[in-house]
Amino acid sequence: MKVSNMIGERFKDRPSDCVSDNHALLVKGGYIKQVSNGVYSLNPIMARILKRIECIANNELNKVGAQEVSLTAITPIELIKESKRLDGGFIKFTDYDNIEMAYVDGSHELAIQLVRDSAKSYTNYPFIIYQNKKSFVKGRKASGGLVNLKESEYNQVYSFHTSLDDLNEKYQLISEAYTNILSKCGLSESVKVENDKSHKFALLTDIGEEKFVKCDACDYCSSFDNAVSNVKNEEGGNREELKLVVTPGVTTIAALAEFLNVDVKRLCKSVAYQRESDGSIVVGFIRGDLDVNESKLMRLAGDDLYPAELTEDSLLSGGFIGPYKIPKEVDVFFDKSLSGIESLAIGANEFDKHYTGFNIERDYGEVEFVDLADVNDGDICSHCGEKSIVVKKGVTLGEISKTGDTFTKAMDMNFLDVEGSAKTPLMGVYSLDLLRVAALVCENSHDDYGPMWPMTIAPWKVQVCCLRCDDEACRTYADELYDKLTNSGIEVLYDDRKVRPGSMFSDADLFGCPLRVVVSPRNMKESCVEISSRDKSYQHKPSLEEAFDEILKFLGK
Ligand SMILES: [Zn+2]
Repeated sequence: MKVSNMIGERFKDRPSDCVSDNHALLVKGGYIKQVSNGVYSLNPIMARILKRIECIANNELNKVGAQEVSLTAITPIELIKESKRLDGGFIKFTDYDNIEMAYVDGSHELAIQLVRDSAKSYTNYPFIIYQNKKSFVKGRKASGGLVNLKESEYNQVYSFHTSLDDLNEKYQLISEAYTNILSKCGLSESVKVENDKSHKFALLTDIGEEKFVKCDACDYCSSFDNAVSNVKNEEGGNREELKLVVTPGVTTIAALAEFLNVDVKRLCKSVAYQRESDGSIVVGFIRGDLDVNESKLMRLAGDDLYPAELTEDSLLSGGFIGPYKIPKEVDVFFDKSLSGIESLAIGANEFDKHYTGFNIERDYGEVEFVDLADVNDGDICSHCGEKSIVVKKGVTLGEISKTGDTFTKAMDMNFLDVEGSAKTPLMGVYSLDLLRVAALVCENSHDDYGPMWPMTIAPWKVQVCCLRCDDEACRTYADELYDKLTNSGIEVLYDDRKVRPGSMFSDADLFGCPLRVVVSPRNMKESCVEISSRDKSYQHKPSLEEAFDEILKFLGK
């Protein structure tokens, strides 16, 4: 490729509306072109990088016996009704035959539709199919260039099995393949994260908008809403008598601690929500210094929740909610942080009143403590027992899950087992956001002047800069070197433009090719060329004759 032919506009200054370095460099370097908020087209340079990443993904998946397929971009609504994945994200439209179609997040239905008529015998199993495909992204707030797109390029994998053992085994293999893909693309520090019934792959980075929890002492890593840490209540404390206290206008934990002059760890904090389905009230109780995690409470309540709208007629008085004599209609959950505290101050379920000396066992009865709490920096790791939990920002790169028979059963997929009886196959679903991978490699590996692409996904391995194309000796040598390298199967970007060296070099920094070869009149006089790596760790001046071999030697490393 010659730079003189290359499409894509580059900018001199950092674009002002960019939120992260990768966003700024990819716009500045002409890699991407915004179509609409959160929707980008790729110029050739980024399209090449994406191809490299896809190639790495395909190689790793082929190694575990996966087969590449190509599923349609749109899915009939009928199939989505079958799978009951109606809460998945999709955009619906009616086609020319008046058939309802959708642009969907994921291809679960199409994957099952592809194989369910043919995979009818246990002898057809197991099998793994995959594709790389542009897909709609459900519920993502668009921002930050390629990191938060409304439509991104995904590697999607679907595995089918006759037993849980086999699903577990292949899940592990595909998980390892994903780790290898990320590592080969240049993201070896990405982590596998526990997440409810699935795993995520994430890169912990300050540009991320999600929260993750990690242990610095062991390899525990979890999404924030699923993280569990151990809580220790201090021993002792006296068991007091239950006493009603008038607390006018004291509606917050801080105000109550001050009013009663006690440690917040002796207070019981409450949060009240209502179920989406029927409006019933759900209350979570937790130690005064901690916070209730809404997602954890939702899972326990078995429904989506919204903050309770409490009025004078409600069962509860906002600001004074407590477990003692709480109305029976209210569902309550006690966080494990309240276990073993002898005396607590609690809301009295009466306006302007609290109780002190509340003992859960004595005054409420037997309680099954649950985990409701947000994890904090410095918490005790539930895996290794060290006080080394840290909460970090990060970006999810992919997610893998054992969906079991959820979709195969819903879509009536079955096979005959050895004995000839009909069974439902089990399924695994895996996806990797390839444009996020590209953006984060750039974020992780760049300097002030541009990206520093790793050899594995670089758009071109070598850039030849001919500083004076109007100088015949320079031009002839650079042309020959370009032809020789290209004919040897090496991907070369050749800057043959008549521009000033300064602007040629700043563009080369933006292109970020791992190796740069500079051909200039001064070098020609000395009968040599300058070769340097993008990070400048390698700089060499081989003779004109040795240059080709020297380049091959570098690339072979
Ligand atoms: Zn640990």
